[in-house]
Amino acid sequence: MAQTAQTPAPPQTEQPAPPGAAGRAGAPQGRGRGGGRGTQVQIQPGQECPAGMSEVRPLTCQPPEFPPPSIVDYRPRNTLVTPEHLVPRAKFPVIDYHGHPGQLINSAEGLATLMAALDKLNVKVMMSANTLSGDALVRTLATVNASPYKDRVRILTGINFNGVGPGWAEKAIAQLETDVKAGAVGVGEIMKGFGISTRKPDGSRLHIDDPALDPIWDACARLNLPVFIHTADPAEFWQPLDFKNERWLELALNADRRYQSEQFPRFEELMTERDHLFKSHPKTKFIAAHLGWHANDLGRLSKMLDAMPNLYSEVGAVLYDLGRQPRAAHDFLVKYQDRILFGKDAYQPEEYPYYWRVFETKDEYFDYYRDYHAFWKMYGLDLPDVVLQKLYYKNALKLTPGIPQAGFPK
Ligand SMILES: [Zn+2]
Repeated sequence: MAQTAQTPAPPQTEQPAPPGAAGRAGAPQGRGRGGGRGTQVQIQPGQECPAGMSEVRPLTCQPPEFPPPSIVDYRPRNTLVTPEHLVPRAKFPVIDYHGHPGQLINSAEGLATLMAALDKLNVKVMMSANTLSGDALVRTLATVNASPYKDRVRILTGINFNGVGPGWAEKAIAQLETDVKAGAVGVGEIMKGFGISTRKPDGSRLHIDDPALDPIWDACARLNLPVFIHTADPAEFWQPLDFKNERWLELALNADRRYQSEQFPRFEELMTERDHLFKSHPKTKFIAAHLGWHANDLGRLSKMLDAMPNLYSEVGAVLYDLGRQPRAAHDFLVKYQDRILFGKDAYQPEEYPYYWRVFETKDEYFDYYRDYHAFWKMYGLDLPDVVLQKLYYKNALKLTPGIPQAGFPK
């Protein structure tokens, strides 16, 4: 694949000139010791090397002799030899609280396919976090209940946030009560559009903590329905799309994850509204999806959990942040072992074993499942069994009486 290695870097269209870019850096020094090296340049303390150069010695920059590969083509072989413990099947039965099984739960054949995959992984209950409501909820539950798997799927219903204004709450509560009678066991996943893009009839942005919504959160408390809510996205998605951005590749691949434009509310604005919602409804149990997008700052999430006894959280799609800080993540999950639930998010059976391996082993320096999320390796957290059991199923069972409680280890 020599050809791949020679692929020139893409044009740096969105890259601002780095501090210390050519011109400001010192004059070329000619060839360094050992012949064959590219032209070296000196930089000043606090400066960075010009683009395309490596700081080979303090304040001395040099370009590689060959065109460097792009970040998508650089795939170095890992030469570290260290014990490897793959975990195809979770140690304890699992409830996937952040399930998006799609059409698989809408037919007998789909359910059989889904369960065959989940059995191999030891996922016992799949929560459907797709806001099924009304007739769609009734139809899906009829299919599930007519199958041999009626105890293995549970459904979270949705809230329709269109038209929030006079009369909205009464209608929304009536629908919620209907959906609960039909068999919904919670609310969610309230998607990130709530806060970012959902509008009120007058065209203004519907704030997450809008007082017009208070009655629905109170109804969730009265009906003992946990509210599974996804707010915003990783903070880096609001940062400039330059080569300092930890999520550059993900943002370059996904236009709908870029919030640099002022048309979007700022990340911290959304966090403030979200936290105000959680605090102003202490009787409502909220589950913040994706560790509230604070998996890269567990201290911040710890403070929230300390301040909000009604708050729970969930680990879907943020394994890359837990696995890069195995000691801090271990201590966090031990300390908050009664507050964190397992969820996977996107349904890809081959990806679950990465979670088992991070949570259950003490393996070192292994791949995450998507290169665009993480340019770094994973380390196992080696969680104790008592914590694994709470993470995998006990917390979900406690929070959600509508999940069949039998058949799990005590
Ligand atoms: Zn989701």
